[in-house]
Amino acid sequence: MYIRQDILDAVAAKKMPEDRTFGKAVLPAICVAQYKNGQWSEVELGFDRDHRLSGGSTAVQYAQSIFEGMKAYFVHQVTPQIFRPYDHAVRFRRSAERMCMPPVPREMFVYGVNLLSRLYADVIPREADGALYLRPSLYGTDYSLSIEPSESYQFTIHAAPTIPFSKDMKSVLIERRNSRSAVGGTGGVKAAGNYAAGFQSLTRARQLGCATSLWLDPLESKYIEELSLMNFFVVREGELHTPTLQNSFLPGITRQSLLTLAEDLGLRIAERRIDINELIKEIETGSVTEAFSCGTAAVVSPIRSLKEASGTEYVFSDEPGPITRTLRKQLLDIQEGRTADRFGWMQSV
Ligand SMILES: *Cc1c(COP(=O)(O)O)cnc(C)c1O
Repeated sequence: MYIRQDILDAVAAKKMPEDRTFGKAVLPAICVAQYKNGQWSEVELGFDRDHRLSGGSTAVQYAQSIFEGMKAYFVHQVTPQIFRPYDHAVRFRRSAERMCMPPVPREMFVYGVNLLSRLYADVIPREADGALYLRPSLYGTDYSLSIEPSESYQFTIHAAPTIPFSKDMKSVLIERRNSRSAVGGTGGVKAAGNYAAGFQSLTRARQLGCATSLWLDPLESKYIEELSLMNFFVVREGELHTPTLQNSFLPGITRQSLLTLAEDLGLRIAERRIDINELIKEIETGSVTEAFSCGTAAVVSPIRSLKEASGTEYVFSDEPGPITRTLRKQLLDIQEGRTADRFGWMQSV
């Protein structure tokens, strides 16, 4: 395809950004398409600076805005490969429908992430835990103060090279005051407003030395749902446990992939409702020995402890446990191209 010379020049001039901590080094060229009069334009490459949004848009005024998060890997592969792009496209469609927005056709979505990954192939970190993080978004652009769905939309894909998160074991705050989403709300899709609703809790968590918050169910504040951007697993007596999906939290693609891997490895698995107070007892008696979070950004990240706002701490373990390490390695081996992809998850761009 034809690529504008100024975009090629900008990409060629782009050195590896200094700060590759997650999400900080957003690259200047993006994919963009417009929806007007009931039709999508073609996906094109452009510059972020040419596609800024008005403060009077439905996206800004009413959070009519959704996103996805996915990764292109280029470690042991011959060309960059994206992890489960079609599954991300399907979830993007569900998010769009929930927020009353026109879905982006699956082929258009995948074409866009492939195009941007090819354009930026040279800046994808080719080291363990390195990747190009891709952020497709869709938002209402009508310049209007009337409270109704937009008639025009913009679809963009931004990209940022990333290197690993810190490998330190993390603590997590048990969030007993706020809820992230209601039953029947938007917690089950990647709607922008869900994340702003979690910032107050994130700030409190950081003040207590925690990396993030653990969200409980919105009705009884009793059953564990997920973390702010990740799903949650524990290991109890050698068995892998994760909360049963509810429409108030996000069905992670990493979560689902780990369940598939665990089954393939012959691990015992239980998807169940996990009562926070029972879990605390099980940590104290030593029957629950491992916990980890999982998501596109951090892949699999071991959790050292849960903390109450009072400061009381319940420690799983000081080192990543054996099942956490095995699942993390198995998934990254597939994503980084060290072992054969027996599940058909990787797609070359
Ligand atoms: C994106 C996200 C996850 C993880 O989903 P993946 O598909 O594994 O990246 C978990 N929880 C929330 C709230 C998320 O937004």
